[in-house]
Amino acid sequence: MSRRDDVLRELGLGPIWRLRRPAAESVVAAASPIPSAASPAAALPAHDRSESIAQLAWDDLDAAIRSCTACALCRARKQAVPGVGDVNADWLFVGEGPGAEEDERGEPFVGQAGKLLDAMLAAIDLKRGDNVYIANAVKCRPPGNRTPEPEETAACWPFLQRQIDLLRPKLIVALGRPAAQTLLQSEIKISAARGRRFDYRGIPLVVTYHPAYLLRNLPDKAKAWEDLCFMRRLMEGQ
Ligand code: SF4
Repeated sequence: MSRRDDVLRELGLGPIWRLRRPAAESVVAAASPIPSAASPAAALPAHDRSESIAQLAWDDLDAAIRSCTACALCRARKQAVPGVGDVNADWLFVGEGPGAEEDERGEPFVGQAGKLLDAMLAAIDLKRGDNVYIANAVKCRPPGNRTPEPEETAACWPFLQRQIDLLRPKLIVALGRPAAQTLLQSEIKISAARGRRFDYRGIPLVVTYHPAYLLRNLPDKAKAWEDLCFMRRLMEGQ
């Protein structure tokens, strides 16, 4: 059996579905002390804060994210989850926000959805950490894994913008609606936006389903496979 066959099976496109159901996640937010003082960047007016973040190098950006208190999500996090991967990557994948396991371990996409994302990457001959960077629209876990509120994604947006500026990837992949709406700064529906090439400041951007959605909606995995093929074609065409 080839590795590609293994990957297709993992994506639910083979005859046997092998992924386990995601473990039930606690709806109780992880308890951690509410930071007693706002970080310097959080204390600035929004424009000044964005300007300040836009100057940061990787290490300082990482530190700024980890100490950030600019939105209410800081209150329930165990730790912020800035992102992971190759800082010279051509591919940037952007999800919605950390879940319970990510909050615990400090790395994006490490639970069941992460395993599926790894399988999706493998399907197009990619590997986490090798020419791939993975980040989220919000860097702190929304309590109960709810969708981030618009003011939360807005507060975190300068961090993602800076990550993209530092990376200058050749392709951005938005995983799910909140990530896509954050990156495109407009309302979209994944079903209508799939298969289209968008543009983020000159960088091609495509949207597909979030792996956590795919775990709950198995028939849409075939569409995710189409999206992966579209991404690969786009990248090969550059
Ligand atoms: Fe700061 Fe983003 Fe965390 Fe909100 S989600 S506290 S803006 S790092």
